[in-house]
Order: sequence, then structure tokens, then C-alpha cells
Amino acid sequence: MASVFEYAPAPESRAVVDIAPSYGLFIDGEFTEAAGGKVFKTVSPSTEEVLAEVAQASAEDIDRAVKAARKAFGKWSALPGTERAKYLFRIARIIQERSRELAVLETLDNGKPIRETRDTDLPLVAAHFFYYAGWADKLGHAGLGADPRPLGVAGQIIPWNFPLLMLAWKIAPALATGNTVVLKPAETTPLSALFFADICRQAGLPKGVVNIVTGDGGTGAALVSHPDIDKIAFTGSTAVGKAIAREIAGTDKRATLELGGKGANIVFDDAPVDQAVEGIVTGIFFNQGQVCCAGSRLLVQESVHDEVLESLKRRLSTLRVGDPLDKNTDLGAINSAEQLARITALAETGEAEGAERWSPACDLPSSGYWFAPTLFTNVTQAHTIARDEIFGPVLSVLTFRTPEEAVAKANNTQYGLSAGIWTEKGSRILAVAARLRAGVVWANTFNKFDPTSPFGGYKESGYGREGGRHGLEAYLAPSSPEGER
Ligand code: ADP
Repeated sequence: MASVFEYAPAPESRAVVDIAPSYGLFIDGEFTEAAGGKVFKTVSPSTEEVLAEVAQASAEDIDRAVKAARKAFGKWSALPGTERAKYLFRIARIIQERSRELAVLETLDNGKPIRETRDTDLPLVAAHFFYYAGWADKLGHAGLGADPRPLGVAGQIIPWNFPLLMLAWKIAPALATGNTVVLKPAETTPLSALFFADICRQAGLPKGVVNIVTGDGGTGAALVSHPDIDKIAFTGSTAVGKAIAREIAGTDKRATLELGGKGANIVFDDAPVDQAVEGIVTGIFFNQGQVCCAGSRLLVQESVHDEVLESLKRRLSTLRVGDPLDKNTDLGAINSAEQLARITALAETGEAEGAERWSPACDLPSSGYWFAPTLFTNVTQAHTIARDEIFGPVLSVLTFRTPEEAVAKANNTQYGLSAGIWTEKGSRILAVAARLRAGVVWANTFNKFDPTSPFGGYKESGYGREGGRHGLEAYLAPSSPEGER
């Protein structure tokens, strides 16, 4: 469908943020070089422009960072909660003040649209720090005993899809509960975490409470195996999550693992179609579908399949794919060449296995990593694209006839992170939600996040909960008489 009118370019200025040519590791309150002097480049996925060189931390650097965190732990954990809260409130306010810089930086390094970093990521990042700042002096009222204690030094490993938001999910509860941290951002998106290091300095956070070490999977593995880490918090792929679980088995390290997903978005025949279509689009095309809780399987009731698909295709034809810094862009770039190759291969498998592929007409930029929004119909549960996490803007459409069939198909997955239900009937929402094996179930909405709400998975989507009061538990040893759980 031709656009009714053309949009004029509306680029956000990238001049609001200064990017240094190179960055070191943030250890004990200082930026330092990696022991081996190794560096790697981070590029803008929408242009392939090199943004900066970043230090590659070795096991020796990890050891320095863990020692700094251990040294800082004594004083930090002994501070009254009201004092720790002051730092967290300060960090939250600085994030708000500098949110424009951070949004532009995140968009440059990740490739996601500025509309998302500005309106979703950054407000949620600040909200997480505000929320957990509020808990810092109320830990005795969290239902974890009168005087729950921090675990110690937390090693935190985060992915590239929501770089700063995943940092907030990890660092805010850890600090509120009196732990110190060594955090490793993903190798393709290190810049906002390094910017955050500077915010810690600006907030006057005591040295060593937050340490940021950049590097690849090897750096992450060195952090996991360091003997003086008390807890691992990991968000990423199921394969790496399993490797981490194997590595720490037999140690007293605690872990929370937030892994992959293959969320079912279930549309019943009484759902308001226009709203459902918006929810389907948000469910799978938000952040180019690079979302672990994406609604990547659309289960649509057979009687409304054609109507929903027609509306959905019409809506997809209006999505704007392109320059992520343009304020009118809906879909930005895929984060890396590797991820693009993975999405491309899985989509080809979908076609080879007989599903029907459709994309709206759209011009993709010539440089950078791009993938058009894609729908597959005639998908069965046996198809690879109905089973494997694609982590890209690819929706697999399946049908069902009865609520029982919808539940059975939704649960027929190795994962269990999210699901969505679209129906007019409140009783149906409750009945279906209760039978879905998914950590988060959205009703008549999708991909909505809030710091007060716990998030986490069933089955191969991982264990432990982040967010809300539950998120405190992952960083505290209860003070109950039975002691360690
Ligand atoms: P994705 O497939 O989404 O890139 P990964 O699980 O590979 O997810 O990466 C998530 C995070 O885990 C990144 O910060 C990455 O560097 C890190 N990582 C990768 N391999 C390992 C490993 N063996 N041990 C610890 N961390 C790892």
C-alpha cells in the first residue's frame, strides 16, 4: 500500500552525546586499561560506523574488579538503607537529567529506534532506580525476615537487546540490598554501561561498589568462574545460561538466569481486532523482535484468522523501517551481522519447511544490518520457526479452534517466559492465564514493563525473578531461623 503522504526526515541530533575514541574498564572508581592491553571495536549497527574502541577484560582484570567490589562491600553493606537510598535516588535523577544523551547513545550503539530508547528504555531505567531506592530502607518489611543480609559480590552479565535497561534491572536491586557488583555488558553494546560508570562517579558512589568490565563471552566466563563471586545474575541465551548453570553447579554461588522465550500471543474471536493488531505488532516488532519475551508465535482463532491477517498486513505496510535516529522510525537495525545471519537462516528454514512467507514492500538501507518485518502463515507446531527462538522481526502464525487447543499449543514449547491473551471476556482471561506456563501473561496488551512487577521464566526460560519485591529476594540471604535456604 502506498503511503498517504511522505514523512520529512526528523533526525534526533547525535551531537548531544560525546563519544570518546576509546574506553577503559571501570574498576574501583577509575577507568583503567585492560591488563593485556587488548581492545575491541563497537559499531553502529545501522551504518557499520566504528563508534569507539573498548578494552577487552581478561581474567586478571576480572580479578581486580572482584577484589575492588569485595573491598567496597564491607562499608557499603554496613550503610543504613536510608544512606544507600540517597545514592540510588541521585543516580535515578542523573539518569533523568541525562536521558537525552543516553537515548541517543543507546540508539547509536544498539540500532533500536530513538522513539523506543527515549520513550521506553530510559524512563524505565530511571523508574527502576527510583523503585529500588525506595526499598533500600524497608528491607525488613519485604517478607524476607526482620534483617535480611546482602549476599556479597554479584557478577552480572547482560545482553545487547536492552543494554541500559538490563543494567538497571541488575544493578538497582543489588545496590539497594547492600551488594556490590561487577557487571559485564554485551560486546556489541558496551557504551551505555560505560556512560553509566561516569554517572556513578557523578553521583559520588563509593569506589568499587559498581565495576564495569567490558569484553566478550570469555570475559563473562571468567566472571562466572571467579571464586569470590557470591551470586551470578545472567540474562542472555539459553545455551550460555545452561553453561553457567553447569559451571557453578557444586559451588555455593547463587544464580538467577533469564533466558530465551517463544511467547504465544493468543487472539480469541471476540477480541477487538484493531487493538489486537497493535498488540501483535508491539509484541513482535518492538525492538526488531530482539526481545526474550516477544510474542513471536501468534495463535489466532481460526474463525477470525483471515480478518486478523488482513488487518495485520495492512498495518505492517505502514511501519517505517530505517534510520534509528529518525523520530518517525518504527523499526531500526538488527544489532549485529551475526544476529542478522541467524535471523536470515531461520527465516530460510521456515520457507524450506513449507511455511508461507510475507513481508511488506520496504526499502532497506544499503549499509548496516537490516531485516524487513516478516510474517509466516501456514505454520504448524512442528516447524522450526514455531519452536526455535528467532530473536528478530519474524512472526509465526498458527491457528486454534477452542481455548483448550490454544492453551495446549501455547504451552507446547521448551520455553515459558511470556504470553498474551486478547479477548473481551474477563473470565476467559483469568481461566486461560491460570493455565499458561509463562512467567508473564499480558491481557489485552503486550510487552508492558514496570519495575514493581516481577519478571522471569518457566522451563528453559530460566529461574529466579527480577523486578518488584521478588527482585530483592535474589540479592538477599533471609534472616529467618532456618538460616541459608
Ligand atoms: P545472545 O545470543 O543474545 O548474544 P549470549 O548469551 O551469547 O546472548 O550473550 C549474553 C551475554 O553473555 C553477553 O554479555 C555475552 O558476552 C555473555 N556470554 C557469552 N558467552 C558466555 C559464557 N560462556 N559465560 C559467560 N558469559 C557469556
